[in-house]
Amino acid sequence: MSATQTTNHFDVLIVGAGISGVGAAWHLKHQQPDKSYLVLEALEDFGGTWLTHKYPGIRSDSDLYTFGYRFKPWTGAPIATAEEILRYMGEVIEEDDLARHIRYGHRIGKASWSSADNLWTIEATRADTGETVTFTAGFLWMCQGYYRQGEGYTPEWEGMADFKGQIIHPQTWPEDLDYKNKKVLVIGSGATAATVVPAIAADCAHVTLLQRSPTYFIPGRNVNELADVLRELDIDPAWTHEIVRRKLLHDQDLFTRRSFEEAETVKNELLEGVRMCLGGDEETLKKHFTPTYRPWRQRIAFVPDGDLFQGVREGKASVVTDHIDRFTEKGILLKSGQELEADIIVTATGFNLNVLGDIDFVIDGKPLDFGKTVTYRGMMFTGVPNMVWVFGYFRASWTLRADLLGDFVCRLLAHMDEKGARRVEVALRPEDKDMPLLDWIDSENFNPGYLQRGMHLLPRRGDKPEWQHSQDYWMEKDVLPKVDLDAPEFVYDGKAATAKVERALEKA
Ligand SMILES: Cc1cc2nc3c(=O)[nH]c(=O)nc-3n(C[C@H](O)[C@H](O)[C@H](O)COP(=O)(O)OP(=O)(O)OC[C@H]3O[C@@H](n4cnc5c(N)ncnc54)[C@H](O)[C@@H]3O)c2cc1C
Repeated sequence: MSATQTTNHFDVLIVGAGISGVGAAWHLKHQQPDKSYLVLEALEDFGGTWLTHKYPGIRSDSDLYTFGYRFKPWTGAPIATAEEILRYMGEVIEEDDLARHIRYGHRIGKASWSSADNLWTIEATRADTGETVTFTAGFLWMCQGYYRQGEGYTPEWEGMADFKGQIIHPQTWPEDLDYKNKKVLVIGSGATAATVVPAIAADCAHVTLLQRSPTYFIPGRNVNELADVLRELDIDPAWTHEIVRRKLLHDQDLFTRRSFEEAETVKNELLEGVRMCLGGDEETLKKHFTPTYRPWRQRIAFVPDGDLFQGVREGKASVVTDHIDRFTEKGILLKSGQELEADIIVTATGFNLNVLGDIDFVIDGKPLDFGKTVTYRGMMFTGVPNMVWVFGYFRASWTLRADLLGDFVCRLLAHMDEKGARRVEVALRPEDKDMPLLDWIDSENFNPGYLQRGMHLLPRRGDKPEWQHSQDYWMEKDVLPKVDLDAPEFVYDGKAATAKVERALEKA
């Protein structure tokens, strides 16, 4: 290898400086202050999702009281722009002096585990020089997100090459894209499409939202009345943050449970919200905003101030629900025979799943086939020692789980120190021998396209809570802090005999 080699060792290596990675650094600093750690980030700055996405109107679709960290009060409107989220993360980095622990422009390409040394060796490529830099670490904290940052998912449609205009994916939106007085067609029905359409509607000649099928939306004012009252009463911001979080989480829990238990009622309530925004336009509601699935099988986007529906009502935007037959020179021909003309086509069609940061994992010389591992609560994996993976919630804010896993990792590291252990892994127990192994997530429960497309790359799930990736924050907030780290599924230093068994034997 021609690249210069330098070696640095850290107790913990965090992959990624998005909201999860910065949170992980905060937890280590506060809960495990004696551990040395490094955050490696491929991009030139922190923020991940909020740094890469630059399409007009880019904003959160969940409230920042719960999407924000539990330890850093949010003081703005509930739905925030990318810029506001980046400012908030920047404050965490500055207030906690985390910057000196982050190295930007380092893309990790390979991570190799050695059981002989109980060490990870991590190879990263520097963006500025192209050098390969090598690090070693006792523990890997994977905060790499879930999709490929560089390129979004665009299906292959017939005739795409014939189209004379521009085709843009929101993930790689050119900052100088001129859509003024142009006809824009946005393909998609998720949060991104719902954000882009109202953001550009005023400037375009016309914007059309083309969706295959309708989605649920929650329109509402971008305010939190409880937070506003508490602020008016001059309540400490940390208290306000905690109280508002609890109230929102309580309400979200109720909503999620109701969407399973009384799906039809919840559906009608959601539709009523949209109906009001559309000014009672029943035809549009029925045709374009009435999904056929029950609420919560896909993420439900909050539409601040109903701006999407406002655009439709005012005629600046229109919605077409149909299937694409092919692209043409002028636009898109639909299965119904209608042709939609466009100067720019925006494909808000989702992500490419990125499993483990596109890093080549090698365990004791053998390439890791992640799809053949079994997940322990969606964070650890059989056969992969000293590694935790952060994957947040779909139905609640991602960061709620990043915080819970922050506590878990710090407790696990402390437990290893107490035991004098250098390696921890999870392993199926004798009673799990005949456990059926299922897809990572039940598509009846939640089925976004990027997960369906990438299911074969993801770990397997069992039929017991330990071996499942629960999407239930309200259960995990009680269960994760109490997980018995000496339970038989945790194996330390390669010894399957657990402290529990040893203790029982001692007593006998
Ligand atoms: C437009 C948009 C809006 C969203 N809105 C919400 C919302 O409102 N609420 C919500 O809960 N969720 C939302 N999500 C989901 C969102 O991605 C997560 O909530 C959250 O931002 C993910 O943070 P993260 O730090 O885990 O991952 P990311 O933000 O994806 O950051 C991961 C970081 O890891 C780095 N990385 C990856 N691989 C490597 C490697 N091999 N080497 C070095 N660095 C690497 C990446 O460069 C990146 O900076 C949204 C997603 C999108 C795309």
